[in-house]
Amino acid sequence: MAKEFNKKFMHPTRRKLVDMVLTGGEYQKETQISFSGVDKKKIKREVGDKWTDDNGKSYEQLEAGKIETSELGDTMAEVRAYLDKLNTCKSDNCKTIKIGRVDKKLISKTGYCLHCLTLKEAQIKYDGLWKEYEDYKIYSNIISHGKDVIAQFQQAYRDAKQTYEVVQEDGKIESWSMERDVNELKAEIMIDITNFETEIEQVTKLRNEAYAKLKDKNYDLVRPLKD
Ligand SMILES: [Zn+2]
Repeated sequence: MAKEFNKKFMHPTRRKLVDMVLTGGEYQKETQISFSGVDKKKIKREVGDKWTDDNGKSYEQLEAGKIETSELGDTMAEVRAYLDKLNTCKSDNCKTIKIGRVDKKLISKTGYCLHCLTLKEAQIKYDGLWKEYEDYKIYSNIISHGKDVIAQFQQAYRDAKQTYEVVQEDGKIESWSMERDVNELKAEIMIDITNFETEIEQVTKLRNEAYAKLKDKNYDLVRPLKD
């Protein structure tokens, strides 16, 4: 599965930059005016302009204002790459000029805009492999969702305790116990985990069977198996 971009896990500075780029307007937006040379000539910066001042500091003009690229270059490159990816269809001969809401959604899911995705899927239908393709997609989703569920159950298993202590607002510690025996509960969770794993194993087998029929075609929409 492709790694999803998640702001939650970003460094605060980076998160702020992403917010800044995404929302734009809430931050200083005037075009940067800088003075250089003896004649104090006004330089009007356009979005995308890069320049170095007399002190050797490099800047880039963004819609939200200028940023110092020496410090934040990597971060901005990362943010830009992410934003570009959100709005760029993977297809080499994509003819879509205006990326709409549906396109964006599909690009984030499949990498392709609606038009290109339709063309790619038409080829699969034409090849008579639509059923296999759908199976591959559905089973892949089940596997990825199932793995998340298992991870949650494993967390619950690790966290389960007979007695919990909760710190109250006034600093007092309140403890409460579970009515059920924790070992009994943990045993149940473990059975659930095992059952889930068995099911996912079966689904994985079906997914691999579907993939085996598709792989020789090297469809862009069918990613090589990793798990
Ligand atoms: Zn496209």
